Amino acid sequence: MPPGTTTAFAPAKVNLALHVTGQRADGYHLLDSLVMFADVGDTITLRDAPEMSLTVTGPRATGVPTDARNLCWKAAERFGAAVAITLDKHLPAAAGIGGGSSDAAATLRAMADLYNRSFPTENLATLGADVPVCTVAHAARMSGIGDHVLPLTMAPLHAVLVNPGVDVPTPQVFKTLTTKANPPMTDWPDHGGAPAAIDWLQTQRNDLQAPAIALQPVIADTLAALAATTGNRLTRMSGSGATCFALYDDRTTAEAAATQLQSLHPDWWTTACTLR
Ligand code: ATP
Repeated sequence: MPPGTTTAFAPAKVNLALHVTGQRADGYHLLDSLVMFADVGDTITLRDAPEMSLTVTGPRATGVPTDARNLCWKAAERFGAAVAITLDKHLPAAAGIGGGSSDAAATLRAMADLYNRSFPTENLATLGADVPVCTVAHAARMSGIGDHVLPLTMAPLHAVLVNPGVDVPTPQVFKTLTTKANPPMTDWPDHGGAPAAIDWLQTQRNDLQAPAIALQPVIADTLAALAATTGNRLTRMSGSGATCFALYDDRTTAEAAATQLQSLHPDWWTTACTLR
């Protein structure tokens, strides 16, 4: 790597549970969510430069903003230095797996590395509700408006992520959710590893799943296709959709399920992954 250049990985964020517990007077929703991060994601490369620029490459580059609307750009401005950014985009955008937020967090980590100083942590949730948890980039409980992040020790989970290729704008999903004050998550098991975590997750929810299905019924088809895969232990939507996930006991079973889904639905974005 040339001097003055650095890279950072921006993993997909998966909300294993996402409870909407209220809404503040200023409109922000209160959340309680268990978040983990996949071994699939985008890659950010930063180079020290006289002025800010952004190039988006990769299989999911189409439609991603290449200007100050991009969360990478906003994160670099927040850090307070000009950089030439290359974003290699592998995650579908507007998909409930925090692509933009994870890119922003990876940009902050890369800038800290490049300039050898820590990044500002105040008000990161104003960049995007998922940005604070994405700076942690491993299992965490996220609450408040996304600004309270409690890192957790969790056993890795084996998953398949599927996006059926429809956009579900987050504000519209929240608008469709009629009951804003829902119960928070219950306490999860400290012992028992992945099997206990999956049993516990079955008793939790994603409160945005029903409103997202009302807006995009193909999400129900996606969940049904995941539920029909061999060895699936739990099926749910992530974030505000449309990406859904299923959990499996091991990576081999997850990969077989992904292969099965790819042949049935070649137009869907499907990947096996391990969540940490
Ligand atoms: P979340 O899981 O946090 O709800 P999301 O579904 O809102 O994530 P993003 O991938 O962050 O999805 O994209 C939302 C919108 O943000 C996109 O439609 C796009 O116009 C814009 N955007 C800004 N920066 C990025 C980025 N780095 N990658 C993708 N989209 C971005």
